[in-house]
Amino acid sequence: MTVAVYPGSFDPVTLGHFDIIERSSAIMDKVIVAVLNNNSKTPLFSVEERVKMLVDVTRHFPNVEVRSFGGLLVDFVQECHAGVIVRGLRAVTDFEYELQMAQTNHVIAPEVDTVFLTTNLKYSYLSSSIVKEIAMYGGDISAFVHPLVAERIRAKLTGTDPQ
Ligand code: ADP
Repeated sequence: MTVAVYPGSFDPVTLGHFDIIERSSAIMDKVIVAVLNNNSKTPLFSVEERVKMLVDVTRHFPNVEVRSFGGLLVDFVQECHAGVIVRGLRAVTDFEYELQMAQTNHVIAPEVDTVFLTTNLKYSYLSSSIVKEIAMYGGDISAFVHPLVAERIRAKLTGTDPQ
């Protein structure tokens, strides 16, 4: 059984992330989407809110699970009994950092391999930061995120968020 971990900030999940989740869930037996609890970044959404949005948009995939983690990624991967890390590659700008991370993780945990899925052309420009920036200026983000996520962003930015 091939279990993969797809880690990231997901602040919030975009259609680019969703595309990677959908495609990796078709290749792997199980995909654990892992939301990084990273104190050094100031996220718009709390880890719990990011996990909830991911759960809501992926609930129709029976082999996708959403969890949060802190600390070293390879420790979490081993805790999940997973052998694969999935990452998405957009432009060459992603490449150098991703290569370094994959190689380092492989040295720390030789039984863990990183698999890269190239971005869907439709979403190659898309990032959580760009979505937040557009939303902050009142722009239409419906082409970039799930409607449910668009609603949560709007609520967060207008202070009408019940959480
Ligand atoms: P991180 O801070 O770990 O880069 P992100 O949430 O920005 O977290 O991204 C998580 C993963 O999803 C990364 O592998 C990233 O390259 C990938 N990703 C982000 N946006 C897209 C996209 N539009 N298409 C494909 N992969 C993407």
